[in-house]
Amino acid sequence: MKPNCDIPSPFYSHLLRVLKEFSVDLSQPQPSKFYYTRRLQNCVSPIQTRSEVHWNRRFGPGVIWKDIWKEIARSKNDPVLRDFDWRTVHRILPVNSRMHQWNSRLPSRCVRCGAQVDTLEHVLVDCSKIKDMWMFILNLCHRIDPSVIGLSEKNLFLGCFSQRGTKDFLRYLMCVGKFSAWKERVSLQFKKDQKINCQIYFKNYVRQRLQIEQCFLSVDAFVSKWCMNNVLACVRDDTIEILI
Ligand SMILES: [Zn+2]
Repeated sequence: MKPNCDIPSPFYSHLLRVLKEFSVDLSQPQPSKFYYTRRLQNCVSPIQTRSEVHWNRRFGPGVIWKDIWKEIARSKNDPVLRDFDWRTVHRILPVNSRMHQWNSRLPSRCVRCGAQVDTLEHVLVDCSKIKDMWMFILNLCHRIDPSVIGLSEKNLFLGCFSQRGTKDFLRYLMCVGKFSAWKERVSLQFKKDQKINCQIYFKNYVRQRLQIEQCFLSVDAFVSKWCMNNVLACVRDDTIEILI
């Protein structure tokens, strides 16, 4: 049944009410099937996800979300990291404070340092026990791009960097850092016999990626992708040497 039929179905009568509410012209039949959809899209403002609202509250309204989601999809990350990055920015990791909200018998404290509330920010960046790893990563970033002299929360949580040539690289290191912090926390909480150290995990993770890419990339492609300022790897006598 068409919207301008004499006896509209409940669905269309509701739709008609909405269209009238937005002052959409209904007097003439429209040739395009999408005319009404487009008119409605123009009338409503786009919906923001809960995570975007949260981060905007923290960082202000200057964050361009379209670019951030694009960068997450296109980044240097392998599929596991990309999925982890997506979940981090969406704030859907099962951190203790969130688990505690769902089930009050679960503790909300951090298993690493004993802080009262174990939030996403605490687990991945703020915990005092992982400061050394982040200092190590900052040092790497500084050697890769000397203009990086500190890591802001925006760098750490959203992977936003203004440095043009190196931003993908820096974003990758942020993501491996957060992933290593998360792996360490999971190992401490659930696998008490297999404790992971986040800094060692970080180095191994990056090294493994370099070793895999070394096998199928040409030397030139490898150099342009990974050997920036000879920090993670370099080429000596035509052979690749991994330095991390
Ligand atoms: Zn902690």
